[in-house]
Amino acid sequence: MRILLVEDDRDLSRQLKIALSANGYVVDHAPDGEEAQFLGETEPYDAVILDLGLPKIDGVSVLERWRQRNVSTPVLILTARGAWSEKVAGFDAGADDYLTKPFHTEELLARLRALVRRSAGHAAPSLSVGGLRLDPRAARASVNGEPLRLTSLEYRLLHYLMMHHGRVISRTELVEHLYDQDFDRDSNTIEVFIGRVRKKIGSDRIDTVRGLGYRLTAPIDELRDAAGKV
Ligand code: CA
Repeated sequence: MRILLVEDDRDLSRQLKIALSANGYVVDHAPDGEEAQFLGETEPYDAVILDLGLPKIDGVSVLERWRQRNVSTPVLILTARGAWSEKVAGFDAGADDYLTKPFHTEELLARLRALVRRSAGHAAPSLSVGGLRLDPRAARASVNGEPLRLTSLEYRLLHYLMMHHGRVISRTELVEHLYDQDFDRDSNTIEVFIGRVRKKIGSDRIDTVRGLGYRLTAPIDELRDAAGKV
Protein backbone atom coordinates (compact mmCIF):
# COMPACT_ATOMS: atom_id res chain seq x y z
CA MET A 1 0.00 0.00 0.00
CA ARG A 2 1.27 3.42 -0.90
CA ILE A 3 0.52 6.48 1.19
CA LEU A 4 0.89 10.20 0.59
CA LEU A 5 1.88 11.99 3.78
CA VAL A 6 1.25 15.74 3.65
CA GLU A 7 2.79 17.42 6.67
CA ASP A 8 5.03 20.46 7.06
CA ASP A 9 6.30 19.62 10.57
CA ARG A 10 9.65 17.95 9.94
CA ASP A 11 9.89 15.95 13.17
CA LEU A 12 6.34 14.68 12.94
CA SER A 13 6.84 13.77 9.26
CA ARG A 14 9.97 11.81 10.04
CA GLN A 15 8.30 9.95 12.94
CA LEU A 16 5.25 9.10 10.87
CA LYS A 17 7.31 7.97 7.91
CA ILE A 18 9.23 5.54 10.13
CA ALA A 19 6.04 4.21 11.74
CA LEU A 20 4.28 3.82 8.38
CA SER A 21 7.25 2.04 6.80
CA ALA A 22 7.46 -0.32 9.77
CA ASN A 23 3.80 -1.17 9.17
CA GLY A 24 4.19 -2.21 5.56
CA TYR A 25 3.44 1.05 3.73
CA VAL A 26 5.54 2.92 1.23
CA VAL A 27 5.36 6.64 1.79
CA ASP A 28 5.72 9.74 -0.38
CA HIS A 29 6.08 12.94 1.61
CA ALA A 30 4.84 16.38 0.57
CA PRO A 31 5.89 19.25 2.88
CA ASP A 32 3.52 21.85 1.40
CA GLY A 33 0.14 22.22 -0.28
CA GLU A 34 1.53 22.78 -3.75
CA GLU A 35 3.50 19.54 -3.89
CA ALA A 36 0.61 17.69 -2.24
CA GLN A 37 -1.76 18.99 -4.90
CA PHE A 38 0.50 17.78 -7.68
CA LEU A 39 1.31 14.34 -6.22
CA GLY A 40 -2.32 13.65 -5.26
CA GLU A 41 -3.43 14.34 -8.82
CA THR A 42 -0.69 12.44 -10.59
CA GLU A 43 0.06 9.38 -8.44
CA PRO A 44 -2.40 6.65 -7.42
CA TYR A 45 -2.26 6.42 -3.61
CA ASP A 46 -4.13 3.97 -1.42
CA ALA A 47 -4.70 6.71 1.18
CA VAL A 48 -3.61 10.24 2.05
CA ILE A 49 -2.76 11.72 5.44
CA LEU A 50 -3.35 15.45 5.06
CA ASP A 51 -2.41 18.09 7.59
CA LEU A 52 -4.69 21.10 7.13
CA GLY A 53 -2.30 23.87 8.21
CA LEU A 54 0.19 23.92 5.32
CA PRO A 55 2.51 26.38 3.54
CA LYS A 56 1.63 27.61 0.01
CA ILE A 57 -1.87 26.11 -0.28
CA ASP A 58 -3.94 25.16 2.80
CA GLY A 59 -5.10 21.56 3.24
CA VAL A 60 -8.83 22.23 2.78
CA SER A 61 -8.20 23.91 -0.60
CA VAL A 62 -5.95 21.05 -1.68
CA LEU A 63 -8.64 18.53 -0.79
CA GLU A 64 -11.42 20.53 -2.47
CA ARG A 65 -9.47 20.61 -5.70
CA TRP A 66 -8.68 16.90 -5.58
CA ARG A 67 -12.36 16.10 -5.19
CA GLN A 68 -13.31 18.50 -8.00
CA ARG A 69 -10.87 16.64 -10.19
CA ASN A 70 -12.36 13.28 -9.21
CA VAL A 71 -9.44 12.11 -7.07
CA SER A 72 -11.31 9.59 -4.92
CA THR A 73 -8.40 8.42 -2.71
CA PRO A 74 -9.47 8.13 0.95
CA VAL A 75 -8.18 11.11 2.95
CA LEU A 76 -7.53 11.35 6.68
CA ILE A 77 -7.09 14.95 7.82
CA LEU A 78 -4.96 16.14 10.74
CA THR A 79 -6.48 19.09 12.57
CA ALA A 80 -5.37 21.39 15.38
CA ARG A 81 -6.83 20.83 18.84
CA GLY A 82 -10.05 22.69 19.52
CA ALA A 83 -10.51 23.71 15.91
CA TRP A 84 -13.90 22.03 15.39
CA SER A 85 -14.68 24.28 12.43
CA GLU A 86 -11.59 22.86 10.64
CA LYS A 87 -13.06 19.38 10.93
CA VAL A 88 -16.36 20.54 9.46
CA ALA A 89 -14.56 22.32 6.59
CA GLY A 90 -12.40 19.23 6.05
CA PHE A 91 -15.32 16.80 5.87
CA ASP A 92 -17.29 19.16 3.66
CA ALA A 93 -14.28 19.34 1.32
CA GLY A 94 -14.27 15.54 1.00
CA ALA A 95 -12.31 14.09 3.95
CA ASP A 96 -13.11 10.54 5.09
CA ASP A 97 -11.71 10.65 8.61
CA TYR A 98 -9.81 12.95 10.95
CA LEU A 99 -7.39 12.99 13.87
CA THR A 100 -6.76 15.90 16.20
CA LYS A 101 -3.15 16.76 17.03
CA PRO A 102 -1.47 15.57 19.19
CA PHE A 103 -2.40 11.94 18.56
CA HIS A 104 -1.02 8.49 19.25
CA THR A 105 0.67 6.88 16.24
CA GLU A 106 -1.22 3.65 16.99
CA GLU A 107 -4.52 5.44 16.51
CA LEU A 108 -3.38 6.90 13.20
CA LEU A 109 -2.31 3.45 12.01
CA ALA A 110 -5.63 1.89 13.07
CA ARG A 111 -7.65 4.59 11.29
CA LEU A 112 -5.50 4.19 8.20
CA ARG A 113 -6.04 0.41 8.12
CA ALA A 114 -9.78 0.99 8.38
CA LEU A 115 -9.73 3.58 5.58
CA VAL A 116 -7.69 1.40 3.23
CA ARG A 117 -9.80 -1.73 3.76
CA ARG A 118 -13.10 0.17 3.49
CA SER A 119 -12.07 1.80 0.24
CA ALA A 120 -11.21 -1.62 -1.19
CA GLY A 121 -14.63 -2.92 -0.09
CA HIS A 122 -13.58 -4.98 2.93
CA ALA A 123 -15.13 -4.77 6.39
CA ALA A 124 -13.17 -7.44 8.32
CA PRO A 125 -9.81 -6.36 9.79
CA SER A 126 -7.91 -9.33 8.35
CA LEU A 127 -7.98 -10.70 4.81
CA SER A 128 -8.44 -14.33 3.83
CA VAL A 129 -8.57 -15.99 0.45
CA GLY A 130 -8.93 -19.77 0.79
CA GLY A 131 -6.25 -20.91 3.24
CA LEU A 132 -4.27 -17.72 2.78
CA ARG A 133 -4.56 -15.14 5.55
CA LEU A 134 -3.07 -11.71 6.06
CA ASP A 135 -3.43 -9.52 9.11
CA PRO A 136 -2.45 -5.88 8.48
CA ARG A 137 -2.55 -5.19 12.25
CA ALA A 138 0.51 -7.38 12.76
CA ALA A 139 1.80 -7.15 9.17
CA ARG A 140 1.81 -10.97 9.07
CA ALA A 141 0.54 -13.59 6.69
CA SER A 142 0.03 -17.35 6.82
CA VAL A 143 -0.95 -20.16 4.50
CA ASN A 144 -3.03 -23.04 5.91
CA GLY A 145 -2.01 -21.93 9.41
CA GLU A 146 1.72 -21.87 8.60
CA PRO A 147 3.30 -18.42 9.11
CA LEU A 148 4.92 -16.99 5.98
CA ARG A 149 8.33 -15.36 6.02
CA LEU A 150 8.07 -12.45 3.64
CA THR A 151 10.36 -9.54 2.87
CA SER A 152 8.71 -6.14 3.14
CA LEU A 153 8.23 -5.95 -0.63
CA GLU A 154 6.79 -9.47 -0.81
CA TYR A 155 4.41 -8.55 2.01
CA ARG A 156 3.27 -5.39 0.22
CA LEU A 157 2.75 -7.36 -2.97
CA LEU A 158 0.69 -10.04 -1.24
CA HIS A 159 -1.30 -7.44 0.70
CA TYR A 160 -2.21 -5.58 -2.48
CA LEU A 161 -3.16 -8.76 -4.36
CA MET A 162 -5.28 -10.00 -1.44
CA MET A 163 -6.95 -6.63 -0.99
CA HIS A 164 -8.01 -6.84 -4.63
CA HIS A 165 -8.33 -10.62 -4.98
CA GLY A 166 -10.28 -11.97 -7.92
CA ARG A 167 -9.44 -8.93 -10.02
CA VAL A 168 -6.70 -8.87 -12.67
CA ILE A 169 -4.00 -6.41 -11.63
CA SER A 170 -1.52 -5.10 -14.17
CA ARG A 171 2.21 -4.87 -13.54
CA THR A 172 1.98 -1.09 -13.85
CA GLU A 173 -0.66 -0.95 -11.13
CA LEU A 174 1.49 -3.09 -8.86
CA VAL A 175 4.55 -0.94 -9.47
CA GLU A 176 2.54 2.19 -8.66
CA HIS A 177 1.30 0.80 -5.36
CA LEU A 178 4.41 -0.99 -4.14
CA TYR A 179 7.15 1.58 -4.63
CA ASP A 180 7.52 5.21 -3.62
CA GLN A 181 8.07 7.95 -6.20
CA ASP A 182 11.84 8.08 -5.70
CA PHE A 183 12.31 4.41 -6.47
CA ASP A 184 13.78 3.49 -9.84
CA ARG A 185 10.80 1.51 -11.04
CA ASP A 186 11.09 -1.34 -13.44
CA SER A 187 7.95 -3.36 -14.02
CA ASN A 188 10.04 -6.38 -15.04
CA THR A 189 11.15 -6.86 -11.44
CA ILE A 190 7.50 -7.44 -10.50
CA GLU A 191 7.63 -10.79 -12.27
CA VAL A 192 10.59 -11.79 -10.11
CA PHE A 193 8.72 -10.90 -6.94
CA ILE A 194 5.57 -12.67 -8.11
CA GLY A 195 7.75 -15.76 -8.61
CA ARG A 196 9.12 -15.50 -5.07
CA VAL A 197 5.70 -15.01 -3.50
CA ARG A 198 4.33 -17.95 -5.53
CA LYS A 199 7.09 -20.17 -4.14
CA LYS A 200 6.08 -19.24 -0.61
CA ILE A 201 2.28 -19.38 -0.86
CA GLY A 202 1.84 -22.09 -3.51
CA SER A 203 2.05 -21.52 -7.24
CA ASP A 204 -1.67 -22.12 -7.89
CA ARG A 205 -2.77 -19.05 -5.93
CA ILE A 206 -1.59 -16.40 -8.39
CA ASP A 207 -2.69 -16.70 -12.02
CA THR A 208 -0.82 -14.96 -14.81
CA VAL A 209 -3.31 -13.46 -17.22
CA ARG A 210 -1.26 -13.09 -20.35
CA GLY A 211 -0.81 -9.52 -21.48
CA LEU A 212 -2.96 -8.19 -18.63
CA GLY A 213 -1.40 -9.02 -15.30
CA TYR A 214 -1.96 -11.18 -12.25
CA ARG A 215 -4.94 -12.42 -10.30
CA LEU A 216 -4.96 -13.91 -6.82
CA THR A 217 -7.57 -16.60 -6.19
CA ALA A 218 -8.07 -19.60 -3.92
CA PRO A 219 -6.88 -22.91 -5.44
CA ILE A 220 -9.70 -25.02 -6.91
CA ASP A 221 -9.59 -27.67 -4.16
CA GLU A 222 -9.99 -25.02 -1.46
CA LEU A 223 -12.92 -23.50 -3.33
CA ARG A 224 -14.45 -26.98 -3.55
CA ASP A 225 -13.96 -27.54 0.18
CA ALA A 226 -15.55 -24.19 0.96
CA ALA A 227 -18.51 -25.00 -1.33
CA GLY A 228 -18.86 -28.43 0.32
CA LYS A 229 -19.32 -26.82 3.71
CA VAL A 230 -22.42 -24.87 2.63
CA1 CA B 1 1.02 22.16 9.79
